[in-house]
Amino acid sequence: MIYPIVKYGDPVLERPAANIAEFDGELKKLADDMFESMYAAHGVGLAAPQIGIGKCIAVIDVTFKEDPNAKLVLVNPEIIKKQGKQTGSEGCLSLPEFRENVSRANVVTVRAQDLEGKWFEKTGEGLLARALLHETEHLIGKLYISHISALKRDIMKRKIKKLMRAGEWA
Ligand SMILES: [Zn+2]
Repeated sequence: MIYPIVKYGDPVLERPAANIAEFDGELKKLADDMFESMYAAHGVGLAAPQIGIGKCIAVIDVTFKEDPNAKLVLVNPEIIKKQGKQTGSEGCLSLPEFRENVSRANVVTVRAQDLEGKWFEKTGEGLLARALLHETEHLIGKLYISHISALKRDIMKRKIKKLMRAGEWA
């Protein structure tokens, strides 16, 4: 099932998501639906709050269907190591049409549970490191625009307000 993507302004995006304790069929279905919704929206990462579900789960596929082994499900993730620095253009499905340069760590290790509840660690570099950070932050209610200057953020928010008034942001 393809869920509509929740856009910036919805409080679910800025609330910490709830820890997941049950690793059942329902969770597997949610992960499948999240991949489907992410691909439909042409994204490489999606966190559950972005489909209006305040649970600690995110999916990532930085190869966008190219490599089935690249599909990553993160349940209750936590960043445990950050190294180096990269600066690059970043966007978010919940802030469509906007992109800004964001500096991030270049090599990142996340600790998370899989759909069976088993803990694992995954280290990513470059785009994957960026995605691990971006999606894990979604689950604590943080958006990438918290990493850009206040001035740029205000300009973005003003543009979004205008879109909201025009009925083009829902
Ligand atoms: Zn995002």
